[in-house]
Amino acid sequence: MPRPTKCRKLHYTPDFYYFKPAGIPGRNLEEVILTLDEFEAIRLADFENLYQEDAAKQLNVSRQTFGNIIDSAHKKIADTIINGKILKIEGGNIDSLKERNFICYQCKNEWSVPFGVERPSNCPNCNNENIHRSEKDKGFGQNK
Ligand SMILES: [Zn+2]
Repeated sequence: MPRPTKCRKLHYTPDFYYFKPAGIPGRNLEEVILTLDEFEAIRLADFENLYQEDAAKQLNVSRQTFGNIIDSAHKKIADTIINGKILKIEGGNIDSLKERNFICYQCKNEWSVPFGVERPSNCPNCNNENIHRSEKDKGFGQNK
C-alpha cells in the first residue's frame, strides 16, 4: 500500500542561486547574499502564500524570528533590484535542517535521514514502528 506523500516543504534547495543584472560585467557589481533560510522564508510566505505563523512552523522557528528573517530577505531583494546588484543564494543558519534525527522508543537506536527522503516508518535496527523525531531536532531555531 503506498504511503501518503507527506508535505516536505522544509527541504527545498533553490534551482537558481545566482541572479545578475543583464549586460553588466559581474566584477563591477556588488553582491548581496541571500541565505537559504531567507530564501525558504520568501518561498513559504511570498510564493506559497502561507501565513507567517504557518511559515514559521515550516521553517521551525518562532513567529518573531520568521518575521526577522523575511524582513531581512525583503530588504536584500529590494536592494538588489533597485541598485542593480548580484543576488547570490547561499549559506545561512540551516545546518539543523539538513537532516532529521529519529529515535526508536523500543531499542533507543538513533539515526538520521536527509531532508527530501521519505520519513522512515520503522526503526532500521529493530523494525519497531514506535519511532519519533529526536529531541535534538526540536530545539532548532531557539536561542540562536
Ligand atoms: Zn529500534
